[in-house]
Amino acid sequence: MEARIERVWTPYFPGGATPQDPPANGGTSRPAVPPGAPREANTWVIGDDDEVIVIDPGEDAAGVLEMVGDREILAVICTHGHATHVAAAVEVAERDEAPVALHPADRLHWRLVHPDADAEIEMTDGGRFDVADVQLEVIHTAGHTPGSVSLYCADLKVVFTGDALLASGPVPHEGEFPDFPGQLTAIGERLLDLPPGTRVLPGHGEESSIAAAAKRFDSWVAAGPSADLG
Ligand SMILES: [Zn+2]
Repeated sequence: MEARIERVWTPYFPGGATPQDPPANGGTSRPAVPPGAPREANTWVIGDDDEVIVIDPGEDAAGVLEMVGDREILAVICTHGHATHVAAAVEVAERDEAPVALHPADRLHWRLVHPDADAEIEMTDGGRFDVADVQLEVIHTAGHTPGSVSLYCADLKVVFTGDALLASGPVPHEGEFPDFPGQLTAIGERLLDLPPGTRVLPGHGEESSIAAAAKRFDSWVAAGPSADLG
């Protein structure tokens, strides 16, 4: 059976309403964001009709489990330890007693969200996951966090980049780059090494490609960490 990729997108816009939502009170003001509401992020589900791997479950376990349906979850992979990406990891994995995979360098980030649960799989560069007859390879793309990884699937010609690389470029965290040179090096030396036609499926926003990133890479380097790349 052929592997495919599905996206669970958590829409969130500052102000608390999606662009389609009319203001609740008929005026121009929009409802406040409920505390704890999920933030905009991408969850990726890769697999076939029988089994899946969930990449970055985000904050909405119910939405992810609805997309998965009755297929077996083989693993929940976290591209890094930030809450927006891992908050629902334990709940999603628990349904099928699947392991959670995280790079150990992000354990501190993970612990802030899940003080009582550890990830069962410690990912390392070059590690592999099998699902639905395709393989995912772990590429350590540190910078956004020390333990940020990307998952490359040569069979489907895609790379899941988390927050290492979005269509708009390298991603800051809360307005700052913890390690801008490291992040740019990871993009330049690890991700841009992939075939140019590879689709980039990021942790936020729309997809892009390695070719598109290669074209813009020099401008990201020149702009530096203070640029508004968001
Ligand atoms: Zn992040």
